[in-house]
Amino acid sequence: MKIGVLGLQGDVHEHLERLRDVGVDPVIVKKPQDLAELRGLILPGGESTTIGKLMRKYELLEPIRAMGQNGIPLYGTCAGMILLAREIEGGEEPHLALMNIRVARNSFGRQKDSFETDLSIEGIAGPPFRAVFIRAPHVTSVGDDVEVMAAFNGRVVAVRQGTLLATSFHPELTEDPRVHEYFVEMCRKAGLPVGGTDSRL
Ligand code: GLN
Repeated sequence: MKIGVLGLQGDVHEHLERLRDVGVDPVIVKKPQDLAELRGLILPGGESTTIGKLMRKYELLEPIRAMGQNGIPLYGTCAGMILLAREIEGGEEPHLALMNIRVARNSFGRQKDSFETDLSIEGIAGPPFRAVFIRAPHVTSVGDDVEVMAAFNGRVVAVRQGTLLATSFHPELTEDPRVHEYFVEMCRKAGLPVGGTDSRL
């Protein structure tokens, strides 16, 4: 199963490592041809304005939006969450505008630019997940079709809308593979014919 990591800027290699840890041979996406046959794509953390500009420059914005609209799972971490959002607080132009969420950037204050906390996440079994936040966004409002998976101090930090997943934090920066496993499972299920099994898996 081919799963990609958008490789324009940000913590690309950490995501590649975590995908390898869960048995996936990942693909780095830098140009539209790299999207061929992908069963899922991760949008890493970094700087969303920069990644958004590069996605436009390398003609990746429209094809990735089409993938998302066609039900191929996408997972955005931190800046990736901002790329997926339909609205960005402050009126900044959205990027992929696929998820029915509004996000605020850099929303955890200066002293807390970077911090870690234990989070319980809906759908992730076992002990709380060690979540690393780095100049992280949070979700300020969600549409009816969006499931809130985790909140920290009353702020929504993990959401799912069908085949789209977004977290404010960076699971790729810890050794805990559970969120990547969860996403890989989303990709497996999205690739299955309804009610059937796929022998290629
Ligand atoms: N602050 C960054 C932004 O607004 C996101 C930070 C991150 O991805 N670690 O794009």
